[in-house]
Amino acid sequence: MNRNASTGATAETVLSLEDRVAQACRVLGRLELTRAATGHVSARIPGKDRMLIRARGPAELGDRYTTRDEIIEIDFAGQVLDPDHRGLAAPQEVFIHTELYKARPDVHAVIHMHPPTVVLFSICDLPLLPIYGAYDPASARLAIDGIPMFDRSILINSPELGSRLATTMGGAKACTMHGHGVTTAGASVEHAALYLIQLNELARMNYQARLLGEPKPISEEDQEAMRQRTREAPRAGGAPPTGNEAALWRYYTRLTDA
Ligand SMILES: [Zn+2]
Repeated sequence: MNRNASTGATAETVLSLEDRVAQACRVLGRLELTRAATGHVSARIPGKDRMLIRARGPAELGDRYTTRDEIIEIDFAGQVLDPDHRGLAAPQEVFIHTELYKARPDVHAVIHMHPPTVVLFSICDLPLLPIYGAYDPASARLAIDGIPMFDRSILINSPELGSRLATTMGGAKACTMHGHGVTTAGASVEHAALYLIQLNELARMNYQARLLGEPKPISEEDQEAMRQRTREAPRAGGAPPTGNEAALWRYYTRLTDA
C-alpha cells in the first residue's frame, strides 16, 4: 500500500481503500456522528480474511482528524498484520467488524459509532418511526425495513459478543445498540457511511417531531410504495457507489471538506 500519496482527495480522484476508510472517518466525525475517537470504520480486503480499520494509537486525535497512517490491516481474529503499524492497535470493539464479515459475505464495510441522537432513542426505548417518505427516501427505507436493537450496553470486546450482535443485526443495514451506539454494514465504505448518516437523519426528524407533537408513521400504502422503489445495485467487491449514491457521498465529502 502506498502511504505517501496525497489524502487531499477530490471527487475525481481514485482513492485507495485505506484513503476511503480514513475519509469516511473524517466525514462522519465532522458531521458529529460520534465524539472524539469513539468510532471506527473498516473495509474488507477483497479475497482475504482481512480488513483495514481505523486504529487506536498514542497520537490519535479522533475520527474527524483521521489520516491514512492510522489505518491498519488486521485479520478476522482481530490481530494486527501490518508490519509497519507504528504501535497502533486494533480498537477494543474490533469484534463488531470481524464477526459481521464472517457472518455476511455481502458486507464489504462495517462502521461502529456513537451518534447521540440515535442513542437517545435507544435509552428511552422509543422506535424510529417511518414518519416521512419522499422527504428522504433512503432514510425512510431504514425505518420501513425495521432497525434491530442490540439489548446490551457494554463494549463488544469479545468474539462471542460480536457474534451475538451479528445475529441481532441479521441482514439489516443498521442496528442500534442500547445505551451505546450504532453499527452499519454495507457493500462499500461509502454505502455503510451513508446508512449511518441516514439513520441519524431519521433520528433527528423523529426527535424534532416529538418536540412538536405525536409523530405518526406514513400510511401502509405509502410504506409499501417506498419498498417498491428500485434501488441501484451495489458494485461488486466493495467498489464505491455510482449514480445517486456517488453524488450524495460527493456532497458529504465536500460539505465536510474531508
Ligand atoms: Zn462503541
